Amino acid sequence: EFNARESLYILLNQAKEFYKDKLWNDEEGKAIGLSYFKERGFSEETIQNFDLGYSLDVWDAFYQDAIKKGYTDEQLEKAGLLIKNEEKKYDRFRGRVIFPIHNISGRVIAFGARILKEDKKQPKYINSPETEVYHKSHVLYGIFQAKQDIRLQDTCYLVEGYTDVISMHQAGVKNVVASSGTSLTEDQIRLISRYTNNITVLYDGDNAGIKASLRGIDMILEGGLNVRAVVFPDGEDPDSFSRKVGEAEFKKYLKHSSQDFIAFKVGLFAKEAGNDPIKRAETIREIVESISKIPDAIKRSVYVKEAADLLKMDEQVLISEQNKILIKAS
Ligand code: ATP
Ligand code: MN
Ligand code: MN
Ligand code: MN
Repeated sequence: EFNARESLYILLNQAKEFYKDKLWNDEEGKAIGLSYFKERGFSEETIQNFDLGYSLDVWDAFYQDAIKKGYTDEQLEKAGLLIKNEEKKYDRFRGRVIFPIHNISGRVIAFGARILKEDKKQPKYINSPETEVYHKSHVLYGIFQAKQDIRLQDTCYLVEGYTDVISMHQAGVKNVVASSGTSLTEDQIRLISRYTNNITVLYDGDNAGIKASLRGIDMILEGGLNVRAVVFPDGEDPDSFSRKVGEAEFKKYLKHSSQDFIAFKVGLFAKEAGNDPIKRAETIREIVESISKIPDAIKRSVYVKEAADLLKMDEQVLISEQNKILIKAS
């Protein structure tokens, strides 16, 4: 059992080195992969720091190399690197830039991979499947590179994508991780809570991003952590926005646009509800529901007070609504 896991790590590391070698030394890799990253504004140092790579646009470049090194089909399938069906076997990752996913101690456990030009025929990103060492609901992209800064800053930024993590790092904001394609899980929150109790969600400024941030906020509250949110202009994500405004402005934006979750929710729903009393009532209920998720009673009462102020509501009304929710849940 130990040896099986250990050899899986070694194989995944081998694959990482293979994709890196293609990115830096192969003609196709340099012309397509490396220039793609550079066009996105990633420096060579950043590309190295995140172990980025490139998979050649052929069926079995990695497979052939691995076979030569003595790996078996079974091992390669178990690592999620080989796809095998009745007719043929081929590399999972082909013609894509590669984002190795590291565990907390820095070992490669999986890969994300992006096509270079978006088209409707292929998914933009694909990932390794679940394997013996990769359980995606437990993993946060960037945690290895971020953990020290999360502890030092006593806060963690949570973003949606690989490139958001990487661009923020390059902009000097290193306490950042991504849930990368899965909606946030309890285990991911528990992982962050090893380093800090404070999370700021930085989701994309589109509808999907806002929905995901609302879900994320409630999960974080349930986990007993403090949560803030930053909203980006429509169509921007942390990666695009940081490149658009530059490092200094981006840091200022994070600082000045971050709101605690109540102010964030009130702002969001107030826009939608306007003066419509039914919608206003729904908004208020939404916010009380979120507050009810907080395990700590003292924090709950502080937030009820804040919500009452922001919503210009009688605090007692909110308290009695909250009590109803808490009784139902218990
Ligand atoms: P980019 O800037 O490279 O276009 P992004 O990170 O901004 O990518 P989003 O569309 O915002 O991409 O998606 C956020 C994250 O969700 C991605 O980083 C990726 O982990 C995951 N993701 C996006 N599209 C897919 C897909 N088609 N299949 C699986 N995961 C995906
Ligand atoms: Mn998005
Ligand atoms: Mn993006
Ligand atoms: Mn995005």
